[in-house]
Amino acid sequence: MAVVHEIRCPNCGAPISFNPGEIVATCKYCGFTSVIETGKAFTFEHSMILNKYDPAQAEELVRNWMRGGFMKPGDLAKASKVVEKNLVYLPFWVVPVAVASRYKGVFERLSPPVVKEGKIEKKYSWVVLARKAVRFPAREYDVPLDGKVPYDFRKIEGFAKVLNSEVEKAEAVELARQQIESHQLFLAKQDVDKIIEIENDLSVGDAVYLHAPIWFIIYEYKREQYNLILDGATGAVIKGDIPTTKFGIF
Ligand SMILES: [Zn+2]
Repeated sequence: MAVVHEIRCPNCGAPISFNPGEIVATCKYCGFTSVIETGKAFTFEHSMILNKYDPAQAEELVRNWMRGGFMKPGDLAKASKVVEKNLVYLPFWVVPVAVASRYKGVFERLSPPVVKEGKIEKKYSWVVLARKAVRFPAREYDVPLDGKVPYDFRKIEGFAKVLNSEVEKAEAVELARQQIESHQLFLAKQDVDKIIEIENDLSVGDAVYLHAPIWFIIYEYKREQYNLILDGATGAVIKGDIPTTKFGIF
């Protein structure tokens, strides 16, 4: 069992409980966000994405997903039961980065091979999940940033859970840098077969702390349980386990 600690909200005095490893906490009574270690206010921009579905509508999205697609058993929607639906606001860092990568490489698809140089310029709003042990496919999720509004605790549903950040801003920026550099390398490798050198010039803007609504669903089909993850802003299925249809001798 994890030990839960408590601090007092610097704004309203209510208790804020947090788990080991959490760095930034949000008060559920007043929405004030503070840095646990110092007990001081969190001074960066804190945003949120709004959830558009109530539990019944979320279940309807699950049913629609079950009815579509070729890979699913024909009776999936009929024979399944949704046993859990939890709305969780997951914390993310969104890091704006402009990058220019100059590379030199060997293009081997010609004979003889030629040395080629190029430049790849990109602008990203790179998203880093601020939790370390959540089973969440962050790379398969496009945070719908168009819907970003200032964080407002009154917009958090009573049944929803808000997770605190386990990742510091500086750490998130470093992770974003590493991931962007390896992504730029991946892009350069589309142009040349062998990279001789690559130089990345990154300019990092101000990172934004953001909570986004994610539905964690568990459904039961033929006595087995399966997971499904829904985007609460768009209704899209981010990831869903599908029962494998068993073909065999009856
Ligand atoms: Zn408070």
